[in-house]
Amino acid sequence: MKYIPKVVVNSLYDIDFTTLYEEGFRFIISDLDNTLASYKEEVPSFELINKIKEIKELGFKFYLVSNNKSQRIETFTNMLNADGFLAKAEKPRTFKMEKFLEHENIDVCKLIGIGDQLVTDILGFNRLNAYSILVKTIDKKTQKWYTKINRLREIIIIKRIKKENLEIGSKIEKL
Ligand SMILES: [Mg+2]
Repeated sequence: MKYIPKVVVNSLYDIDFTTLYEEGFRFIISDLDNTLASYKEEVPSFELINKIKEIKELGFKFYLVSNNKSQRIETFTNMLNADGFLAKAEKPRTFKMEKFLEHENIDVCKLIGIGDQLVTDILGFNRLNAYSILVKTIDKKTQKWYTKINRLREIIIIKRIKKENLEIGSKIEKL
């Protein structure tokens, strides 16, 4: 089932990047909105800037991949000193993401995908065969109307996940 994340954590700050690096992962593509920052935040927090710096110092390349439009993604990319970005990515479709990975010379075998939504981020990253990590939505109140519709779909999907993988399903439910 393509909706099942490999790992479920509360936030970016709970991911063990040192171990992932030791396991051979070298590239990270991350969703922006409600994964790294809420919609309310126009610029990244110092905490986030420091975290991305730390991740890059480990040796990772870090990219933003968002369905949002360019301006916001570009601002965050610059301020986080990220290695690049893909805006209007059309997740969970993989066409644009595949082109992007190819352009950036990213090896999917060494790729981690981080996001807060099962039906866009996790499905998209799994379709790429990336190592998918689900984080808790930072601020549910700021979600867009279409995200709220996706959330209703998630309730059904989580039930299906629980049938296939009770441990991951239960973790998602508790987020
Ligand atoms: Mg998001």
